[in-house]
Amino acid sequence: MLSIQGFPAGLRQEIHQSLTLIRRRLAHPPAPIPRDLLDDLRAILGKPRPRVDLVYGGATDGCRMSYGRSAGYRILFCKKAFQEKRVAAVLFHELIHIAMGWELDAEAFENAWFSQPEGARPPSRTDWETFKDDDYRGWWVQLAPRTRRVTDYADRLILTFPPRPRR
Ligand SMILES: [Zn+2]
Repeated sequence: MLSIQGFPAGLRQEIHQSLTLIRRRLAHPPAPIPRDLLDDLRAILGKPRPRVDLVYGGATDGCRMSYGRSAGYRILFCKKAFQEKRVAAVLFHELIHIAMGWELDAEAFENAWFSQPEGARPPSRTDWETFKDDDYRGWWVQLAPRTRRVTDYADRLILTFPPRPRR
């Protein structure tokens, strides 16, 4: 269950529209996803537990450079995600983190499940550095750096990332 806090009315409406879109994708997954992850995501958006706080962070403090961030069962959601029309993709990315996902998991499912017009963004240079630091592994998926193929631990292809940005 998501507890939505601190959003101005107009933005709250955008959050609800994005949640509707995410729920629809979870009901009919557009790409392979590990069963446990799918169950976790459905539980967060459905049943009373776990309770996850989705808090509006505006453009201050933790939101100066980011679209959103999460820690434990709390998502801080930033103004920048609304300004750049990335609400559904960023929200889905943060939900993957809540479901134990590392950066690789969040980037993989964001880009496998959402298009760029819907706000998904391929991994940045910084994201690639994080993947390397994590030995190209996530909680749910792994990445072959040379082919850029992301597979889950049942060896199903999730997606192939575009070439790593040079700068
Ligand atoms: Zn992330």
